[in-house]
Amino acid sequence: MPQEPSRRERGLDLRNIDLLRFIRPYKTRLVAGIGATISHSLVTVFFFKLFKDFLDTMIDSIATSRHSLRPLTLISLTLVGMFLFKGIAYYGQRYLTTYVAQRTMKDLREALYRHLQSMSMEFFDKNKVGQIMSRTVNDVAILEGAIVSGAINVFYNLITLVVGMGYLLYLNPKLTVLILAVFPSIVYVYRKYSRRIRGMSRRIQESVADINDVLHEGLVGIRIVKSFVREDYEFNRFVRENEANFAAHRKNAQLTATLSPMVELLASLGFTLVLWFGGYEVIRGTMTPGELIAFFTLALMIINPLKALSGLSHTVQNALAAADRIVDLLNQRPAITEIANPKELPSDTPGRVELRNVSFGYHPGELVLRDINLEIEPGETVALVGPSGAGKSTLADLIPRFYEVTSGEILVDGHDIKTLSLASLRQAIAVVPQETVLFAGSIYDNILYGNLGADREEVVAAAQAANAHGFISALEHGYDTIIGEKGVGLSGGQRQRIAIARALLKNPRILILDEATSALDTQSEALVQEALENLMRDRTTLVIAHRLSTIVEADKIVVLDRGQIVEVGTHQELLAKGGFYHRLYEGQWQEQ
Ligand code: ATP
Repeated sequence: MPQEPSRRERGLDLRNIDLLRFIRPYKTRLVAGIGATISHSLVTVFFFKLFKDFLDTMIDSIATSRHSLRPLTLISLTLVGMFLFKGIAYYGQRYLTTYVAQRTMKDLREALYRHLQSMSMEFFDKNKVGQIMSRTVNDVAILEGAIVSGAINVFYNLITLVVGMGYLLYLNPKLTVLILAVFPSIVYVYRKYSRRIRGMSRRIQESVADINDVLHEGLVGIRIVKSFVREDYEFNRFVRENEANFAAHRKNAQLTATLSPMVELLASLGFTLVLWFGGYEVIRGTMTPGELIAFFTLALMIINPLKALSGLSHTVQNALAAADRIVDLLNQRPAITEIANPKELPSDTPGRVELRNVSFGYHPGELVLRDINLEIEPGETVALVGPSGAGKSTLADLIPRFYEVTSGEILVDGHDIKTLSLASLRQAIAVVPQETVLFAGSIYDNILYGNLGADREEVVAAAQAANAHGFISALEHGYDTIIGEKGVGLSGGQRQRIAIARALLKNPRILILDEATSALDTQSEALVQEALENLMRDRTTLVIAHRLSTIVEADKIVVLDRGQIVEVGTHQELLAKGGFYHRLYEGQWQEQ
């Protein structure tokens, strides 16, 4: 996906505000959580006031030789009450803020997935799956981490810092000013480092996406990797990406590890000064010992929020970069959209397909299909043949509107497909691709995918028509057999027959079939062929044909070459013509 470092460099991008809409539904809880956070901070600082009173009362008692325990008991009881209240406030703060953060992230993940589903095929051509996944999974996780442990802590620490400073000012303005004098140097160091940390965080994110890509490719293509004995080659690619990731982490660790001690060192310089001047004030009698000890311990406590705030730059910068990428993704619009008030294609539509002067290119100025005119009557089977790269798959992809024609129009039963709702158009079409895709789950669920409203009888009937019932029943768990990610444990032919059963259950008017090129054994081939015949019966079928038997039996053969239809006719007609098809036949199918 395009990276724009200049914008990332700026850090806070106003478009990130878009993400606030995800928090809006939970604003009551958020406000309550903020209230609890403020109460918690106030009570934390109040402790120091009680501590000071306790010390002064004690020192006063010693000095005046009055031995009444009453004030001490009172202060101690207040302390117990205070800790009780603090505990409740802490619970409210943690529970409510985490609730809001996690619910927001849940909604965001769902919105992202929904958004991804709505994107056109063009988007999935341009962006690698690894990168898209890294965005939906990692970036949301980064944001989640930053909000749960980051934003909530930032807020708590900020409040504690402000309230604490307020009390320090009240206790002794002079000493507080002394502490504040150290602040500019801290801010300077912080700003200098955080810019470099931001750049490094970006590099880490990118390297994680690269690792995902290499891993994804190497595992999805493991069969190819093994057959070429390229394990070492793939491993070395992985090692390279891993090393880049480690180098970025190492540099990042150096930067963040320097930042915290620097801030701490500067801060401790301030405290040494406080101790010296404070001691001097107590000796002079302008400050009580209780005040100095409370001042000093509170100031020491405030260094924690300060340190946490400076250490958080890393998380915050990461989160900003992640938020940026998420907003980028959410702002991308699908290339293919419906018109306002689209027509619904009825489910019993006859299924006549017509392409009128259709041209198409994946990239502007590079036409892959040129001036295609094609009519497929309801129930007719058209075989699409042509050399590799001729544009057969592209043509097939245009009918369910996976891509938009560059010019011309495609009509289904007289309706321009651009005027139809995408769901009703695609509901009328079943696509059986070359590569069978089965989802993790049971065989039953995989067939049911074709029509979620079907009952068991219909599923079994579809499996029977697809020649799959026999082998499914022979399995130990029958239809409830769980198949792995890519249908592990089933033969190629069995997988194809499950995919055919799924398409049969969908019962579409139009069928787009990309015949598998990989040869099955004769028996399996016959079973698949018969299943396909059952599937094609009475449906308008466009088949990207690889088998001679399919081509010979087709009502019409359309020969495509370099994006253009060069010949149309039946097998006999085209052979007799002795043209392109004849040459293709001689080269490819004669031996079949
Ligand atoms: P094959 O029989 O090898 O599958 P085909 O006839 O189905 O080939 P297509 O896959 O439609 O041919 O490809 C036609 C042309 O379009 C080729 O030049 C190919 O490189 C290009 N092409 C295919 N898919 C894309 C894509 N997603 N993005 C860009 N170009 C593409």
